[in-house]
Amino acid sequence: MKAYIYKITIDDKNYIGSCRNPNERLLQHIKRNNNGKYKHLKLYKSFDYCNFNIIEIIEDIDDNNLVKLEQNYIDKFDTINNGLNEVKSYLSKEEFKKQHNKISNKYRNNNKELCNEKIKEIRNLHILNQTFRCEICNYNFGSNRDLQRHKTSKSHLKNIV
Ligand SMILES: [Zn+2]
Repeated sequence: MKAYIYKITIDDKNYIGSCRNPNERLLQHIKRNNNGKYKHLKLYKSFDYCNFNIIEIIEDIDDNNLVKLEQNYIDKFDTINNGLNEVKSYLSKEEFKKQHNKISNKYRNNNKELCNEKIKEIRNLHILNQTFRCEICNYNFGSNRDLQRHKTSKSHLKNIV
């Protein structure tokens, strides 16, 4: 079955991949780029500026030999250490998933502090906002909307007259 080795170049960094249908694969990359879930992968950090090139067309090759050939190119261009590939091509699907989860967990953990800070900020804001208060009536309200509603109420208007 026919197959293709392709190279995606972003600035001076390369990504090597193999596929059976380059158009479909490029579309898949574009979809992944547009899907925030893949942003932790090196390839999708600035994918909008990529060059997609077929570097070898193989007329007939099976899956096992294709991943080996792909790995040869990954080694040749050193794209794991010095490029945009994350894992070796010949990992099984399960191993790939494991590796992928490891990378994405690492990303989440690295960003955990950032996320927690954001949560704290929002919580603090919320606490501040919880003290919506009418000084005239000496009432506290749970939200600004409640306070504003109160300010048009008869009981409040009675107090300011
Ligand atoms: Zn009031």
